[in-house]
Amino acid sequence: MPAISPRRLRARIETLARFGALPGGGVTRPCWSPPHEEARAWLLGEIRAAGLEAWVDAAGNVFGAGGVRALAADRPVVLTGSHIDSVPEGGILDGALGVLAGLECLERVSETGLTHRLPLVLGAWSDEEGRYGSLFGSRAFTGRLEIERIPDMAAVDGERLVDAMARAGFDARRAPEARAPEGAVAAYVELHIEQGPRLEEAGIPIGVVDSIVGVRRARVVFTGQADHAGTTPMDRRRDGFLAAADYALRARDLVVRRGGGRTVTNFGVVTVHPGVSNIVPARGELVQELRSPDADVLAGLAMQCESLARRVASRRRVGVEVRPMSATAPAPCAERVQAAIEAACVTVGLASTRLHSAAGHDAQNLAALTDAGMIFIPSRGGRSHRVDETSDWEAIERGANVLFHTLLALAA
Ligand SMILES: [Zn+2]
Repeated sequence: MPAISPRRLRARIETLARFGALPGGGVTRPCWSPPHEEARAWLLGEIRAAGLEAWVDAAGNVFGAGGVRALAADRPVVLTGSHIDSVPEGGILDGALGVLAGLECLERVSETGLTHRLPLVLGAWSDEEGRYGSLFGSRAFTGRLEIERIPDMAAVDGERLVDAMARAGFDARRAPEARAPEGAVAAYVELHIEQGPRLEEAGIPIGVVDSIVGVRRARVVFTGQADHAGTTPMDRRRDGFLAAADYALRARDLVVRRGGGRTVTNFGVVTVHPGVSNIVPARGELVQELRSPDADVLAGLAMQCESLARRVASRRRVGVEVRPMSATAPAPCAERVQAAIEAACVTVGLASTRLHSAAGHDAQNLAALTDAGMIFIPSRGGRSHRVDETSDWEAIERGANVLFHTLLALAA
């Protein structure tokens, strides 16, 4: 039975890990940065060295394929890929695995001369990690990029997307031209590390993703009254921070109780005004994130959290405002792709389980365009978005072989 070359795949993963490498392990390789652009040049060279065509679109997405040089309307291909950018102080597998395993699969298919009806295409999507705006490349590819917002897109440190792309030789205003022609993609499948502990704890080598979480972000602002922190009696204080803290704890319990075990919430940004030790906080601001694979649960919990915020505010005699910041819908994976992955697991002799992805991925954009799915392999200790993110080489080989047989089935 044909299989991928684990040695070649490992060598490529280790080589890509050198671009933006950190002294203690891991990588910092944000999209459009010099290490990312060097990695892009290296990847293009590897694609060509594998005997495949390589090209880059207007959004900076890298493609590779045997037999085709571009995507075209009504000439469907089967697409696989992921991303080569990383978060700051990230790991060497998040994204890189899916791109390099995809390359290995395409190279292996062409070496073995296996026949398949639809062309296989590799894609490496720009700025998946969202330094300038989340899932940038796959948003452009699927026609979800708002052209009027491009001039304002910037990183948290203020660097504008247009400047970062210009430095890398791209014109950001042309990124929407990366939109895929109608009917160009028959299916998409992406291999990724799970980035959580579920597969490892269950002792199951392959996860078949059934849906990708939707994410809602809102700014929750509690406004009380600034007062002298020494002379104001405790029972007269209208403390904006304590209202925010009270709300955060109660909202956490609400989400755990009503989220069906698959919904999570996070308060990652807390701001206290005026932020001085001898003044009772006039204002406490939170950025709350809610994630769920279930659209109804997500919408319901967002409403329940808002009414909880009002109850907490009235009990603590402060005002509250809930300002929605962003919302993405959960993306269901295609049954046809899930079935192909499960059949590939049977072919290779591996157990699998269906699970949802608790992290966002380019596949959620592709799911709006075509039948999309994802294959997960275990992350050691469930660790990800940190320098010691890793998996076992055997697990990587297993995942790549499942991808290999899934691609062949989808392209048959
Ligand atoms: Zn990723």
